[in-house]
Amino acid sequence: MTEERWVSRPKVSPIYQSAAYAFAGLDEVEAVQDHTAPGYIYARYSNPNTAEIEAEMMTLERAPAALAVASGMAAMYCSLLSILRPGDHIVAGDTLYGGTMSLLTNVLPRWNVTTTFCDTSSAAAVRAAICPATKAIVAETISNPLLDVADVDGIGELAKKCQIAFVVDNTFATPLLCRPLELGASIVVHSVTKFLAGHSDVMLGIAAGSAQLVESARSLAITAGTNADPFAAWLASRGLRTLDLRVERQCGNAARVARYLNSHPGIARTYYPGLRSHRGHGRALRLFGGSGGPMVTAELDGGRDACDRFIRALRLIRFVPSLGDIATTLSHPATTSHRNLSEDERQRRGISDGLFRLSIGCETPDEIIADLDQALPR
Ligand SMILES: *Cc1c(COP(=O)(O)O)cnc(C)c1O
Repeated sequence: MTEERWVSRPKVSPIYQSAAYAFAGLDEVEAVQDHTAPGYIYARYSNPNTAEIEAEMMTLERAPAALAVASGMAAMYCSLLSILRPGDHIVAGDTLYGGTMSLLTNVLPRWNVTTTFCDTSSAAAVRAAICPATKAIVAETISNPLLDVADVDGIGELAKKCQIAFVVDNTFATPLLCRPLELGASIVVHSVTKFLAGHSDVMLGIAAGSAQLVESARSLAITAGTNADPFAAWLASRGLRTLDLRVERQCGNAARVARYLNSHPGIARTYYPGLRSHRGHGRALRLFGGSGGPMVTAELDGGRDACDRFIRALRLIRFVPSLGDIATTLSHPATTSHRNLSEDERQRRGISDGLFRLSIGCETPDEIIADLDQALPR
């Protein structure tokens, strides 16, 4: 290799597709292990590509430290497991992402960690659920699928006062709308898979927060082997370069789409934090700097059959049970993310068979609205 002798350098970071690193001798390996010299040892501990996206996420979330792992779920898993001990209690939002719900209800109870679920759009509800054993509060900035806005600053203040770790999943909001660490969160978790990477072609997760919490999560991630792959980190870093362009456009488009759906006679209800009729509108204005976010949910009259006909009639917008792509995608919570809830429970939560959720993309707003318009019943 002659790279050291080049007088030029690659404009873009190379993908360091190397499982391990070679050393000249014993002093060098000790220096890297003692952090007195820069370098890498083994890709499961760290590698230049994961270190790069960690640094970028520290800037975006204004975080002292960040950890990149294989997925959003790995980030949530390592964050919670590093905070909790047997006998501890969690207070968590009652509309969390299905994977997080499953972690809290199926996995953590095996280690005698229990959870009380409540409405995290109210700090008072969280306060009422806290008990002496509570060691963590878990909330999502924007909930799925009805897009409720968590009382991030109210809970942040409460968590600080009670010295309870506050874990915020900021996937739906992105750091461009909200930076929970500035509002009292202890650790922010992202499914980078969604808006941050932005192209539906990579899975990655990030946990960002204080050096103490992140380093504790990192040692767990190293032992659990939930490390991020160098190529995945490289792709995610590439996606991040256009994050602000994409999300600004997506939020602008979402506001237009929400207004269109809200005035469509075939739509029973539109949920969008940017609409005055949404119950999180006031808080969204305050926390998100005037933006309503990139997600829009609506309920079609006519239930499952009408929704299926609508989905099949779409030409541009594809039915994809995920979010955050550069293209507009649609999800149907009753048959995907919320399928495991009982019919009664779905009714209670307002997740009807006619409910669909749009992740708005970077097309022109006219293209998105024209596709919805030709597919919706008239
Ligand atoms: C997708 C998602 C996750 C899980 O992320 P993965 O990258 O799929 O592991 C967690 N939280 C939210 C809000 C999500 O949308």
